[in-house]
Amino acid sequence: MRGIEENIKKEKIISFIRAIFLLTSLILIKLDFIPTFNPNLFDILLIVYSIYILFTTFFPIYSYGFVYRHQIFSAIDTLLIASLVYLTGGVLSSLYLFLLFPIISASLRYDFKTSITSAILVTLIFLYFGIIQEEETILSSVLSRVAELGGLSIILAIFLNYVAKETLKLQLKMKESETFHKITQIINSSLDFDEILFSILDSAIKLLDADGGTIFIKDKETGELIFEKVVGEKAKNLMGKRIKKGEGIVGWVIEKGEGIVIENASHDKRFSPYFDEITGFRTGSIICTPLRIDNEIIGALEIVNNIKKKPFTKYELELAMNFANEASIALNKAILYNAVNTEKERMQKILENIADGLIILDNRKNLKMINPIAQNIFSITSQDLGKNCKETLKCKDLKGNILCVDCPLDKLYSQQIPYLQYEMKIYSQNLKEIILGCNLSAVWDNSKLLDYILAVRDISLSKEIDRLKSEFVANVSHELKTPLTAIKGYSELLLTQKPEEEKFKNYLKIINQEAERLTKLINDLLDLSKLEEGRMEIKREIVDIKNIIKERALFFQSQTTKHSFIFSFPAYPILISGDQDRLTQVFHNLIDNAVKYSPKGGNITLSIQDNIKSVIIEVSDQGEGIAPEHLPYIFDRFYRADSSLIKRKSGTGLGLSIVKSIVEAHKGKISVNSKVGEGTTFILEFPRDFPLTDPITKTIFLPYFFPLVWQSINNAGEKEIPFVLGYIEYEFSDNSLSLREKDIVRQKLAQLLKRFIRPTTDILAHGLGHFYLFVLDFDPLKLQIFIQRLSQALSAFSKIESSIRLKNRLLQFPSIPLPEIKAFLSQSFYGLPQEEIL
Ligand code: ATP
Ligand code: MG
Repeated sequence: MRGIEENIKKEKIISFIRAIFLLTSLILIKLDFIPTFNPNLFDILLIVYSIYILFTTFFPIYSYGFVYRHQIFSAIDTLLIASLVYLTGGVLSSLYLFLLFPIISASLRYDFKTSITSAILVTLIFLYFGIIQEEETILSSVLSRVAELGGLSIILAIFLNYVAKETLKLQLKMKESETFHKITQIINSSLDFDEILFSILDSAIKLLDADGGTIFIKDKETGELIFEKVVGEKAKNLMGKRIKKGEGIVGWVIEKGEGIVIENASHDKRFSPYFDEITGFRTGSIICTPLRIDNEIIGALEIVNNIKKKPFTKYELELAMNFANEASIALNKAILYNAVNTEKERMQKILENIADGLIILDNRKNLKMINPIAQNIFSITSQDLGKNCKETLKCKDLKGNILCVDCPLDKLYSQQIPYLQYEMKIYSQNLKEIILGCNLSAVWDNSKLLDYILAVRDISLSKEIDRLKSEFVANVSHELKTPLTAIKGYSELLLTQKPEEEKFKNYLKIINQEAERLTKLINDLLDLSKLEEGRMEIKREIVDIKNIIKERALFFQSQTTKHSFIFSFPAYPILISGDQDRLTQVFHNLIDNAVKYSPKGGNITLSIQDNIKSVIIEVSDQGEGIAPEHLPYIFDRFYRADSSLIKRKSGTGLGLSIVKSIVEAHKGKISVNSKVGEGTTFILEFPRDFPLTDPITKTIFLPYFFPLVWQSINNAGEKEIPFVLGYIEYEFSDNSLSLREKDIVRQKLAQLLKRFIRPTTDILAHGLGHFYLFVLDFDPLKLQIFIQRLSQALSAFSKIESSIRLKNRLLQFPSIPLPEIKAFLSQSFYGLPQEEIL
């Protein structure tokens, strides 16, 4: 845009000079300094000429690029002035002065051809008018005058052209300095390779006042040239297109490694009109010059002008080449910068993502860099950069003394050792103790210390594991030693003495008890290690946890008279998925503790709360309780609260850790509430983590049937609603049926039953070999009919499906909740043998 504006300004100045020229001359004529030939005609011509000048001054004739306006200007100037000369004073008039104007006008535009044409044109017009006007004078004198004037004009044109050329050179020089300026601007404005390429192209186009251009980048692998950046009409169509190696003008430039200027592309064999067809642009003149980085040609800069525009000159090629050379410096710098930057970013990423904490401190121990892990460990942020490590890191030695007193950094520096390994302690924001393994090294420049590099790793866990390991070994040895000592002692007594029968039996009893204790200990240890390593297989079958608890409670009940067992269980079976034996072990240990740690007796309450999606079980006693300081540790291996009672009771402190591991293996949770002197409650939660519906029959899965029925009964409250409860047992009489075939029959039976139930109020569930049914209705008669119809449908079904044998039990109850019904629920269902429930 700037180019066009400058041209307009230039043109206006030229027109202005032309007007001044003309007006001065006209004034001279008017004041009779110069004789006029025909004043009236002169006035008309004066007006015409003034209009023409005004028109060319104020109307945008400059934008008519397609008109060779310079030639038109010059020709019109010449014609008009010559007419004026003729009409006003003829050949003899001193207005020859005017004639200089078109010549000057053309020359000022560095247009040699135009100025010569103008000079010749003027000479001819003079010749013509001269001959006509000066008929009487001798032809030879006219001719000599004309030759004199014409010659003078031509010499003047040549001279002015020379001046113009020099001016052009000077201007090119100025443009060259402008080039440098632009390049510096480009370098300073961006370091982005892409942006620089675009700036180079854009600046080159503006510099040469061209219509468009392209930067080609060479594909290193194929040698093809890619249209990397394009400016001009419909440039987008060309972006990313490729030219084969060595093809076209740009191919030639890259192969030869030299710049080229082409006046008219369509006359050049190398030029391919293909890309003009894509854009619709008509390429005229081209300047193309290679782009180099480190003497290697990476591509080319091509500047184009429309066919209608004046062709580029070799001076402009020179300018473009200089520009390209300077541009390559900018590109080089960008590449270098990008390489350094990428490397820097990579380093930064490595430091940030390194698994250890990393801190760089300068030689005055101020923080220079902290990676995110170190920030986390030391609870500091990047805002602490620049601060001294003493006030930010707060390092302590393992004994808890401030480390700065005996700072490892000083030690490294004073002893000039390459690196130092040590451990230290810090406290996290929530005052948790963290033990850090540290690796300290330094960066030296000759003997001058530049930076310290501190790599830290949180080793609290491995330290804790180490501690636990040695504690475990000590505990196991101790626990094994106690029964072994007793066994050894009493067996020695038996060997050395000959005790009387009573004592003999007593000794043997003790040996047997201790051996049992040893066996229990070893079994517990084995269980624990298997559980912790995940080697213990936890079966996932449907079990009735209520049964398990009750069975264990009855076992302990038979051994104690001081304790009463209270059950708070739902009336129906509590089915969860789990391992019968392991769950028995859990409740054995818990009830054992409850009995053991309530020596005065009391109630031991066992309760189950069915939340449908999970089951919560509580085991509570009225024993001596656990002091709060022991509570966090009772699930730890070998942990036994330090009280006189506990010490008196035998135990190894493994029971609860086994319980916890088993509960967790069942995806459950265990917690404890306890008050010294009041008692202890263990709370366990087991999820029912299986789907609500059975995948084969698409009916409710059996474990959910009982809680859902229970919910329904409870929701009914005291209302007298009759209901039907029943189960349909089936058996396959044909054993040759495949699993798939059996599933199909099951599905058919489910389909049949589904027709009888209403999905919102009734419940149909499926367990192994059973369908369970619960139907609620206000109308007893309807229920009666329901039972009849269902029974008929079932017998019809077993007739059609000969492979299945059906047994059903459908019972109608007059209302809920009657205590008998609850009893029925618990007896009829809970009382079923285990395998029938499954
Ligand atoms: P064992 O391995 O034979 O079970 P233990 O009973 O001592 O030995 P745990 O069952 O793991 O070990 O219990 C750990 C500690 O927790 C017990 O020593 C006791 O101090 C405390 N504890 C556990 N249950 C109770 C309870 N019901 N009442 C009071 N303290 C309990
Ligand atoms: Mg125990």
